[in-house]
Amino acid sequence: MCKFRCCCDNFENRLSEIGVKGFSLLATKIANQYCFVLQARSQDIDKKEGTLSVIQTTIHFCPFCGTKLSEVINKNKNEFLDLIILHEDFVI
Ligand SMILES: [Zn+2]
Repeated sequence: MCKFRCCCDNFENRLSEIGVKGFSLLATKIANQYCFVLQARSQDIDKKEGTLSVIQTTIHFCPFCGTKLSEVINKNKNEFLDLIILHEDFVI
């Protein structure tokens, strides 16, 4: 269970979809800045045949409720650092 306190249920659901076909949200650090990326996968990470496409982009606001994500990160700094470790193998 994720201890990171999200802004809304939709955001929390996408945090638990890492490595799964479709959209997910991942915690990472880019250029010394803590942030979230929105990632799309064409297939699950454990599917070995076919062509895998993965695209991602940094987001600064929750795509569902509009909350500023830097404020959410600052309120949950230790839990966010745990998420970075959990997500590091999935970020491209
Ligand atoms: Zn939200």
